[in-house]
Amino acid sequence: MAAFRTLDEADLTGKRVLIRVDLNVPMEDGRVTDDTRIQAILPTLRDVTQRGGKAILLAHFGRPKGRDASQSLAPLAPAVTERLGTPVAFADDCVGAPAEAAVAALDDGGVLLLENTRFHAGEEKNAPDFVSALAKLGDLYVNDSFSTAHRAHASTEGLAHELPAFAGRSMQSELDALAKALEAPERPVLAVVGGAKVSTKLELLGNLVAKVDLLVIGGGMANTFLAAQGVKVGKSLCEHDLAPTALKIIETAKATGCEIVLPVDVVVAKDFKANAPHRVVPVDQVADDEMILDAGPATVALVKDKLARVKTVVWNGPFGAFEIAPFDAATVAVARAVADATQAGTLLSVAGGGDTVAALNHAGAGERFSYVSTAGGAFLEWLEGKALPGVEALKR
Ligand code: AMP
Repeated sequence: MAAFRTLDEADLTGKRVLIRVDLNVPMEDGRVTDDTRIQAILPTLRDVTQRGGKAILLAHFGRPKGRDASQSLAPLAPAVTERLGTPVAFADDCVGAPAEAAVAALDDGGVLLLENTRFHAGEEKNAPDFVSALAKLGDLYVNDSFSTAHRAHASTEGLAHELPAFAGRSMQSELDALAKALEAPERPVLAVVGGAKVSTKLELLGNLVAKVDLLVIGGGMANTFLAAQGVKVGKSLCEHDLAPTALKIIETAKATGCEIVLPVDVVVAKDFKANAPHRVVPVDQVADDEMILDAGPATVALVKDKLARVKTVVWNGPFGAFEIAPFDAATVAVARAVADATQAGTLLSVAGGGDTVAALNHAGAGERFSYVSTAGGAFLEWLEGKALPGVEALKR
């Protein structure tokens, strides 16, 4: 039996279904500029409405301090309508008379979006009276927003204790993908951790070292590991003060039997800018006035060789300064290798975290991974091994 109740187990006909969704989408001049998050909730909305439920959407937008017209969810009602192909009504408050009247007017199979939950202080405080005011509007609660599940707010956590609670389709596929990647993965498991700094990913590295078989470290954070082992990294981005921490992670890896893979060659330049004159050198030949901006071809070959021997890949962070050419080369090459192996059926691949999604899409590889999470903070907390309150509350 799955650890969570899903929509398969819900009797939806004629029920008022409060659905927590993520509509915190990028907007410009009242228009949605990236609708990934809207697309993600459509399967749940279709499921609920086609089975005769009344879909009542709860969401936040931005970080308002109280009611703030500039952070209203009103423009999202037509945006969801357009993509769902069903009219979405809007109520200008998420609790009280306006919300209650709008819910009462809703037909079976209808959809209603309620105003920004964060207009009320009780949302982020998970205040019992605010949870009750929300719970009054529904018979069932569905959480379809993994990206907000690391917050214990009224609409992300509190409601799950007040009403029969279910995981929505998007939440369900995210949890399934994550479970396959780290909780019960096919081994060996290889993790790629890149990005700028070790300091922002200490907990993540600590968790992964205990769970995966190989840990490939790339990006600026690899410089800190190299420097800690006595390698001269010139003027590279490097957290020299974290040398003891890096050495401790290496020690822990030895104890847990996790193989750490660091760059063996690097691409160096004197300036951090696109197309700066650059050269490829073994890691021990970086000049004092040079900085490491990418992993080199021998490192890419080494990582590809490791990939050929694993069954599961978890990825967060780029191998280099991928935003500026040609220092995207290692990220692009390894991302494509993971995507190819995934498509060939030899690998399960899960990736996530803000810059990672951009990096994989830049490589044209994101769509060919098994799963790419756009959840950002929640995905990182999951990689850190933390329990996510919104997910915990859905457990049986
Ligand atoms: P993060 O948010 O920690 O995943 O870091 C992503 C950022 O790390 C990207 O903006 C990259 O440009 C940057 N980055 C990766 N490798 C390097 C490097 N060797 N030197 C400087 N910045 C890097």
